[in-house]
Amino acid sequence: MPAVEMLRLVNSGTEAAMSAVRLARAMTGRSKLIKFAGGYHGHADALLVEAGSGVATLGIPGTPGITAGAAGDTLVARFNALAEVEATMAQWPGQIAAVIVEPVAGNMGVVPPGPGFLEGLRRLTRDDGSLLIFDEVITGFRVARGGAQERFGVTPDLTCLGKALGGGLPIGAYGGRRAIMEQVAPAGPVYQAGTLSGNPLAVAAGLATLEALDDSAYRQLEEAGARVARMVQSAADAAGIPLIINRVGSMLTAFFTDRAVVDYASARRANTASFASWFRRLLANGVSLPPSQFEAAFVSTAHDDEALAFLERSLTDSFTGIRPAPVPG
Ligand SMILES: *Cc1c(COP(=O)(O)O)cnc(C)c1O
Repeated sequence: MPAVEMLRLVNSGTEAAMSAVRLARAMTGRSKLIKFAGGYHGHADALLVEAGSGVATLGIPGTPGITAGAAGDTLVARFNALAEVEATMAQWPGQIAAVIVEPVAGNMGVVPPGPGFLEGLRRLTRDDGSLLIFDEVITGFRVARGGAQERFGVTPDLTCLGKALGGGLPIGAYGGRRAIMEQVAPAGPVYQAGTLSGNPLAVAAGLATLEALDDSAYRQLEEAGARVARMVQSAADAAGIPLIINRVGSMLTAFFTDRAVVDYASARRANTASFASWFRRLLANGVSLPPSQFEAAFVSTAHDDEALAFLERSLTDSFTGIRPAPVPG
């Protein structure tokens, strides 16, 4: 990965994000953190503020059990709204340690970065003296071998990894420029450790997965992702159901709305009851989607022609009977 000169293995994405934030605070001597509404970075206290994933699905506030002290340094901006990040930095000059972002949002459903958004975050953090953290726990090794940072050509200071990195076994990692990573103990003063970190079982599974991910695998993922998006869209069109499909490579979400989904607020305008009906119909047809409007669906290399043909047959009647219900809000 372009931005990862040195890395530390941990056991989960939660640990990776939590440790990256600690390191950013230590490096900058600053406290505050900017995250984006609907962004999920694991369940560390400071990162659950306005979180996506299960917090969004269940419609819960995300903050019970978290002290005001732990959440008070977390500032929230709208995804794809550079001006909000800029205004927040202006409001807290010299106090922002880091901006943490899913470079392709995956936990409010898939929301791609708009043109210039990631580049803008890079510029703003550099000018502000804060660090840019890409949480690539989903996008790492998925949207390109080098993650979103390779696909979009933007280099963060710190990168968080997990999920695909372990080939199904529990793992996480955070890494970045050597000068930053050398601050982590025992080389440097920022403490972080873990009994099971870097355990040989998870690392072997991860290495085997990375070895299998060659150029042809990424071509297959790209083509299969595009094909799935086309199949879903045409089945919805045939049934007269408005649907917005957001896709980056092999990650996609079909939103039950007729308006562009560019951030958490627009994702939440999607009709979750319609999504639930569609989910149940597909499940009865033998297709198990992620059970939430606010999760990403992933295509994997196991989805061969036969699997995709099965999906296409299963989609045929999947939208019938779903009312194109009025969009809330
Ligand atoms: C899943 C996820 C995490 C948390 O990873 P866990 O391994 O579940 O702790 C962090 N960031 C992102 C972007 C995720 O999707």
